Amino acid sequence: MLLSILFITLFIILLLVRTVLFSRNRQSLQGTPASCDSIDGKRAAESLSQAITYRTISYGDYDKFDYGEFGKFLNFLIERFPRMAQQCSPRRINDYSVLYHWKGTDGGLPPLLLLGHYDVVPVEEGTEGEWRQDPFSGVIEGGELWGRGSLDMKVQIISHLEAAEQLLAEGFQPQRDIWFSYNYDEEQRGSRGASQAVEFFKEKGIRFDSVFDEGGCIVKGAMPGVEPPLAIIGLAEKGCANFRIKVKGSGGHSSMPPRSTALGKLSRIITDLEQNPMKPRMTPPVRQMLRVTSPEMSFVSRLALANQFLFKPLLFKIFAANPTTNAMIRTSFSATMSRTGDAPNVLPLSAEAVINCRPLPGDSVSDALNHLHRMAVKSCDPNEYEIEIILGDNASPLSPYETSSYRKIESMIKKYYPQALVSPYLMMGGSDSSKFYPVCDNIYRFMPILINKEELDTMHNSNERISLDNITRSTAFFKEFIKEYDQ
Ligand SMILES: [Zn+2]
Repeated sequence: MLLSILFITLFIILLLVRTVLFSRNRQSLQGTPASCDSIDGKRAAESLSQAITYRTISYGDYDKFDYGEFGKFLNFLIERFPRMAQQCSPRRINDYSVLYHWKGTDGGLPPLLLLGHYDVVPVEEGTEGEWRQDPFSGVIEGGELWGRGSLDMKVQIISHLEAAEQLLAEGFQPQRDIWFSYNYDEEQRGSRGASQAVEFFKEKGIRFDSVFDEGGCIVKGAMPGVEPPLAIIGLAEKGCANFRIKVKGSGGHSSMPPRSTALGKLSRIITDLEQNPMKPRMTPPVRQMLRVTSPEMSFVSRLALANQFLFKPLLFKIFAANPTTNAMIRTSFSATMSRTGDAPNVLPLSAEAVINCRPLPGDSVSDALNHLHRMAVKSCDPNEYEIEIILGDNASPLSPYETSSYRKIESMIKKYYPQALVSPYLMMGGSDSSKFYPVCDNIYRFMPILINKEELDTMHNSNERISLDNITRSTAFFKEFIKEYDQ
């Protein structure tokens, strides 16, 4: 009896010690944000406002692109940023992507790459009336700049160029070379823009010290139970695969049906897929994010996070209850399209669906495919169905976060947003940056803007807009980042 009490007491002490150790590195949230006085915020906002007016809309069908608008946008950059145009000799890649090359004083150092895309998603048909301002007006009202692409991601491109233009005016020259790569089909997975830019760098034998792209930003109320804004820097992104699953049917008159039709079987496969997700796992960026945020959480949450050997099943259950956190810990599947018979009284000869899958780092597209097969054979004989891989991109490699370039981003964030917690994270969506791993190991995805959940939800949605304050701070951030990269 005494021994049991002793054992339990020691065990509780162990849990408590682990809890204290787990959350011991509390980030300071004190300090005054650095001044943005050196930035001409009005000019930066005007630049972005003009940038929004070019309808650089990206479509799945490349023939639908209005390439005239893309060309005009690139010319606008040349006119608006004449010093950059003169210093960096913009070079077109595959007609509508562009590279700027700013030579540094030390050509021997591996260069820095600032990456962006200027294509934007269309305004969905039928939603035009939801917009409170014309999506391509770039109108400034109530301290905000409205329009498609204001957040995703013309603001980042304009911030880079405003910062660099001002630095050139001040006579600054960077130590290492800086490349700027702006691409035109990121929203279509970048096969013509970013991929071709990477080929260019490979041919030239250029490897980068770091690549900096869109991805995380600073979000208020991002994590339940965590009060401070959270600045998240994407170290990796999940993969993307599209599977077409086709179930064969018998055909014939619907008055004498078999026990299950092709559509019935397909529905069961989809239901099984939803009810039997792939195994959850904590990847390094998620683990690190929990470590960073845990000191701000309640004692019970900290206890659970610090003692995952005991509480992991409970943690996974909590994560699984919310679509965002669920996507952080497992490969996801969602049935997004379907097609089957075309008459109410005819048994369909086939039923097919497209399943969009987002493989977690560590799970491959073939692991996901195997899982889909396991679900399919529960409802069909192997000769009754087939699966085609329409798209199969694995998750990106993982960028390290113990590097000087990561620390540089972290310290810049602390400078302009001292009240924010800075953490690595795993990006759920995709970006052009994953294409750059052949030319760089250190790829970071971050936009230095502070937004709330409501603003975040306007990306790829109605009423996309950005505060003028964010435009100024983002420009100040990049100016300082370029200046201090080698300090
Ligand atoms: Zn984007």
